[in-house]
Amino acid sequence: MKIALRKTSLLDYPGKIAAAAFVSGCNLRCPWCHNPELVRPEPESWNTETLSPDEVLAFLHKRRAVLSGAVISGGEPCLWKDLPGFIAEIKKIPLLVKLDTNGTIPSMLEMIFADEKSRPDYIALDLKLAPSRYALLINGPAANTAGALKQSAALIHSSGIEHGFRTLALPMNFITERDIEELAPLVDEAPWQFRAFRGGNCLDKTWDCIEETEAELEKRAKDLAEKARQLGKRGIGPG
Ligand code: SF4
Repeated sequence: MKIALRKTSLLDYPGKIAAAAFVSGCNLRCPWCHNPELVRPEPESWNTETLSPDEVLAFLHKRRAVLSGAVISGGEPCLWKDLPGFIAEIKKIPLLVKLDTNGTIPSMLEMIFADEKSRPDYIALDLKLAPSRYALLINGPAANTAGALKQSAALIHSSGIEHGFRTLALPMNFITERDIEELAPLVDEAPWQFRAFRGGNCLDKTWDCIEETEAELEKRAKDLAEKARQLGKRGIGPG
């Protein structure tokens, strides 16, 4: 397992000073993905400095006086079979743990929630498109990704763990109010954050050439957040 480490961040864990560990490998291929080095498993595609899990743990130990938490992101961290042990080691330091996930591997969520030692303190679930459209993002053979996503959302709702939902407001009407309507049943009373898309370093380079202005992209994120609020959710737009 290779991990790219952001040593200090005020943005990745709400209200906390945290380090963010981005683990390699992902089962999706979102064309707008801003971490192309992380989603491709081939080492030659990596140009980011990476650390081993033990090196990350050593760093976290060393910085425990200034950090209050660690974020485990990706890629998709739930693909990593040693994730439960990695979370447990971070909690022993002790640091709070936030897990970012695309929600397509509920079996791992079930496993880490079941044991106090590996239970994260915060979960952020990415909601990308209407569940019925996730087939557009799958890397590999068709799978019941929509069912997996719904199962993950239900596990998170019932876990008692603090959580939030995140959706990127994509350009070119790639995500619309109909997606928000289909996603709404997966969202409970927790915050649902909408961020504006920004081009640059996308997995599919054509997404770097979007002609919409920053103002248009911000407005799309605000409009989708408003749609979420109309549906009774805690939609939060940019700004
Ligand atoms: S799920 Fe996240 S890391 Fe994976 S391809 Fe999509 S945006 Fe990239």
